[in-house]
Amino acid sequence: MSNKTLAILGATGSVGQQALDVARKRNYKVDAVSCNSDIKSIEAAVREFGVRLCAVEDETAASRLKAAIKDTDCKVIGGKGASERLASETEADTVLNSITGMAGLKPTVSALKSGKELALANKESLVTAGSCVMRLAKEQNKEILPVDSEHCAIWQSLRGGKRSEVKKLILTASGGPFFGYTKEQIRSVTAEQALKHPTWNMGSKITIDSATLMNKGFEVIEAAWLFGVGAEKIDVIVHRESIIHSMVEYKDNTVIAQLGVPDMRACIQYALTYPNREAAVVNELDLVSLSKMTFFAPDTETFPLLALAKRVWALGGTYGSALNGANEEAVGAFLQGRIGLPKLFALVEEATLRTGVAEDSFEAVFETDAEARQYVRQRL
Ligand code: MG
Repeated sequence: MSNKTLAILGATGSVGQQALDVARKRNYKVDAVSCNSDIKSIEAAVREFGVRLCAVEDETAASRLKAAIKDTDCKVIGGKGASERLASETEADTVLNSITGMAGLKPTVSALKSGKELALANKESLVTAGSCVMRLAKEQNKEILPVDSEHCAIWQSLRGGKRSEVKKLILTASGGPFFGYTKEQIRSVTAEQALKHPTWNMGSKITIDSATLMNKGFEVIEAAWLFGVGAEKIDVIVHRESIIHSMVEYKDNTVIAQLGVPDMRACIQYALTYPNREAAVVNELDLVSLSKMTFFAPDTETFPLLALAKRVWALGGTYGSALNGANEEAVGAFLQGRIGLPKLFALVEEATLRTGVAEDSFEAVFETDAEARQYVRQRL
């Protein structure tokens, strides 16, 4: 079948596991995998795919993995920065970065610098350092292959016309578990309620971001960088069924949409087979049994982070890094039950506007990240 060879970063997470399933079904070689500390799943992948190189960020877990797989030829890189090293050391032609959070940025840079194809599921790479990452990709003459479902949909819909004919991008949002809640109702919601997400199968951090619409805000910034369209030309529309994964509106008011069952494996496969299509690894879309689709405007009064994200895009500099760092800290506190959503919204906005700066370098991005986190921590 295919001779594609993959390195999957964040292989034990939700997208990582689905990427392994695509590799299994499409017969891709998996040269390398990385994780934070879940070595059980890594060991399983090493044995199933004959992986040659592993990276484990947690030093102790790395030593345990070494002992567990000493009967194989797999080399283990352990300790902080292991995924970043793996991204350049792997012999894979494509690095799929499905690490969650800011931790994915350095591996993104490392994959691009070493001349690999980058399939990007780590949206934080673009949210925090979009300008620097896109500049680097351009220098390397690489097109970043989007794995996020909305961006995969836009990428496909952009094949329906010329870039100069695009009027706007329309990102769809599932609305999350608190869709329809009033400002009053949102005050008392808990992490447990948020984690009951209706449609997509995701990790807990992104599920909270989906409940607050922060995830959609991040996706607006991500789309703006990926497709070179200003955030003011990106609309968000709530579509509860998650069948239309996003759309492009052209200057003649024609809208091209991409539809399919909500299954990340379709996006992973498209990123890996682009510009071609291969036999499906996901189910067929049955529109008749779906029977109808619904659409709503997002409630930006109750969920203010979406509007904040557009403001952050306009501010440029390191404001994206500030937004992401502040949000990661505040979501951590929300997951632990230490703060509610009103406090999360207030803290994220305040920290973003106070710690972002106009500078545009990787150094400044990391500095702002640390400052935004500290700002939030001191006020919890
Ligand atoms: Mg998405």
